[in-house]
Amino acid sequence: MACFDAPPAEGHVPVYKLLGIEIDPWLSFSKRLDKVCVLGRTAFEEFFHMAESTGLSIPVEALEVPRRVEPAVLYGAELLALAPGAETRLNELQAAWARTILGARNDLRNVSARLSVRELGWPLRLGTAMILKTILFFNKILLLPDLHPVKTLLRLALQLPCESWASRARALMNDPRLASPIPTIFEWGEIPDGLLQVAAQDAAVRKNALRRYKVGVVLPLLTALDREAYLQASTKQLPGLDCRFNQLDDTQERFIHQLLSIGHKTSWRNIRLWWLIRITGKWPVPLFATGNCVTTLPCCSRCGLEEIALNHVLGQTCCDPAETSQMQSIFSARQTADELFDSICFVGQAEGSQLSEAGSESTPTRAGAVLPQDLAGLADSICLAKQADLEAVAFSGTGRRLARAAYGLWCNVRNYNGD
Ligand SMILES: [Zn+2]
Repeated sequence: MACFDAPPAEGHVPVYKLLGIEIDPWLSFSKRLDKVCVLGRTAFEEFFHMAESTGLSIPVEALEVPRRVEPAVLYGAELLALAPGAETRLNELQAAWARTILGARNDLRNVSARLSVRELGWPLRLGTAMILKTILFFNKILLLPDLHPVKTLLRLALQLPCESWASRARALMNDPRLASPIPTIFEWGEIPDGLLQVAAQDAAVRKNALRRYKVGVVLPLLTALDREAYLQASTKQLPGLDCRFNQLDDTQERFIHQLLSIGHKTSWRNIRLWWLIRITGKWPVPLFATGNCVTTLPCCSRCGLEEIALNHVLGQTCCDPAETSQMQSIFSARQTADELFDSICFVGQAEGSQLSEAGSESTPTRAGAVLPQDLAGLADSICLAKQADLEAVAFSGTGRRLARAAYGLWCNVRNYNGD
């Protein structure tokens, strides 16, 4: 491969692959970034297709993506810090996964990337996970013996005025968006000097020190960065609910687990309806027909009022204007599992009936229907899921099967012990 401005010669390749990572002539890793984005899309599509065709519940889908899809994308992600726009593109990739799970894959304008990622319970954005890997690898090199060639190279690179991976990693640690700069493992001061000396010779000690460093300082600062981004996004005004997103709730961490326990009782379309409405404050048209979420529908199918927003139906003003809006409690995460189930069914019935009347191309809705629990059906579903799961693993090459517990959670079977 002819690097930089070297003239190409016969037999030279434009991109060279080393240890599974594509290297381009300008060492920018942009080719690798392109490849990672394609890989991320296909690995997710494979997983999503498998999950949907076998009836995997949405909360389980959300919990499995970080386990099965993310590791494939983050392989070698330390190097992506050099690729222009890597953080943004990785965040967009992850947001596309989230939107697909929520049921509005192409609605970039209405379905907020930050809110949808957070709603699915994914603690770190993908771009931030890349930064985390970069910083940890930089510090791993610092822990190597002084005469180690990689450490020598790092020292040299840091002394040069030009941009390099080392200077890029250093810049990420001093990112002005962080609450405070991230210190190196030596500057941190929480690990005794003696131990750091031993770490140079002993890989196990090095691994332990790095883990302490990650949990003690790097992860908290990066998590705070993502939390800040989320807090900013959560001031978003929800037009059909007449409030801001952060007025609905602030306890979304336990939320996905609550959904997990009721996901088997209610239809998945209902959950998606309820979820999209929560994030956008708009009518979730993509679940019924082609198109994006809209603020108003032309006409109410029950009372004939024109240009109705969500609160016309959810606030129960339709037909009985005297009743007050219970909107915030409907979408609150502070409710018990039973209340949550009732809310999801209520939203599903109210919105689903309006939207299926409105969209002429829409298919008949099963909104509000409670799926019966059929034990024989459950067993079939688990067998089918396992078969599809094995096929997906065989094709995707990630080598990751669903966690054993996931098969049980799938259909809410406790202590499922089959193999
Ligand atoms: Zn009405």
